[in-house]
Amino acid sequence: MSEQIQAIRGMNDVLPAQIGLWQQLEALLRELLGAYGYGEIRTPVVEHTELFERAIGEFTDVVEKEMYSFRDQGGESLTLRPEATAGIARAVIEHGLLRGARHKLWCMGPMFRHEKPQKGRYRQFYQCSVEAIGFPGPDVDAELIALSARLWKRLGISRLTLYLNSLGTPQSRRTYRERLVEYFRAHHDRLDEDSRRRLAGNPLRILDSKNPDLAPLIAAAPALPDYLDAESREHFAQLCASLDAMGIPYRLNPRLVRGLDYYSRTVFEWITDALGAQDAVCSGGRYDGLIEQLGGEATPAIGFAMGIERVVELMRLAGREDTEPAADVYVVVSGEGARVQGARIVEQLRDALPGRRFELNLGGGNFKAQFRRADRSRAALALILAEDELARGAAALKPLRHDGGQSECPLAELPARIEAALAADAHTKE
Ligand code: ATP
Ligand code: MG
Repeated sequence: MSEQIQAIRGMNDVLPAQIGLWQQLEALLRELLGAYGYGEIRTPVVEHTELFERAIGEFTDVVEKEMYSFRDQGGESLTLRPEATAGIARAVIEHGLLRGARHKLWCMGPMFRHEKPQKGRYRQFYQCSVEAIGFPGPDVDAELIALSARLWKRLGISRLTLYLNSLGTPQSRRTYRERLVEYFRAHHDRLDEDSRRRLAGNPLRILDSKNPDLAPLIAAAPALPDYLDAESREHFAQLCASLDAMGIPYRLNPRLVRGLDYYSRTVFEWITDALGAQDAVCSGGRYDGLIEQLGGEATPAIGFAMGIERVVELMRLAGREDTEPAADVYVVVSGEGARVQGARIVEQLRDALPGRRFELNLGGGNFKAQFRRADRSRAALALILAEDELARGAAALKPLRHDGGQSECPLAELPARIEAALAADAHTKE
């Protein structure tokens, strides 16, 4: 036997037995996003490396050490997207969609980051990104947060806390940054290597450090909200008032930051206590300067990205069932002649009942074996096609989920009888 080839570490298969929750989540997201007026956009999985360097910023974990970058045959440096906002911003600029227009967009798909694989942290993972472009807020900020809150409610997920902060404007942040640099310089000996590098390049990012040794130092650092400009303060107050009015609880977290200059004002994060260290489920914020920084006309925008794997895990913990959908009808075929006729009859039934799931017995087998497969398919009904009955223009139906005898049915009446039997079955289940 040849040696087996394994998947890349940190890149997972989602098997049919696990896909149910993914599909439930994706369907609900499509429904909710549509209901809030968001339209789908799909951008390439690969972009020029420079796009991410410019959009995410040099002094970030993602750009410093997590990007899957490579040179293609033409020698260009390309990168598997680590997030979707950069590509979406590029697309709206490139296709001339701005010009004062406003766009509510979402994008779902795989992202790639070279991180240390562990539970909840993968090298290929899925995100749903939601972006509102051309809206200065704070009304849209509040609506986006309400959308995410509604998603948790619809999913029955409760162990989530919303953290909020305002970053102010790049101008007001400058003073804060100076204070922060002074503070960390004074404690230079207590910083780790990453933080020392960031002190020069992007000091706000130190507040983001996951190193527990730094926690006390970070907790005592100057707080950003003390440096907010008056307009940002008002923007934030209005956001909080909207959330209060909608009954969405939140906590203020003055250490919640984004390092880059094009971020401004609102930042938020949904954190769970149910998943251990990988506790961020959905994070978002206002990126009023990004589009201009990428060469488009200055356009305010806000968005969030949600980690699908982490939400799926929360759904599982909340007791959501991950069952594959059951068949409606399992078709048992008895006799060589019935097999050929059976294929035709089932195709006709699929024409007549397009929404129903028929599982035709494939690969033969005696009656007992076929009924075992029928049970495993969890079908509500068995349709039995036997040579002698078919010769009389008839077949048999037998309920599988509750007691009930087999009954004969003329072939012409099958669609109506099957529909009636399935309706009766659904009724007894309730
Ligand atoms: P973390 O703090 O967990 O590293 P992050 O700040 O890097 O997250 P974002 O870039 O804001 O995450 O991405 C948004 C969401 O995507 C996160 O809240 C998380 O749910 C999910 N996510 C990020 N990285 C991964 C990963 N490597 N594997 C699985 N999900 C991830
Ligand atoms: Mg990360």
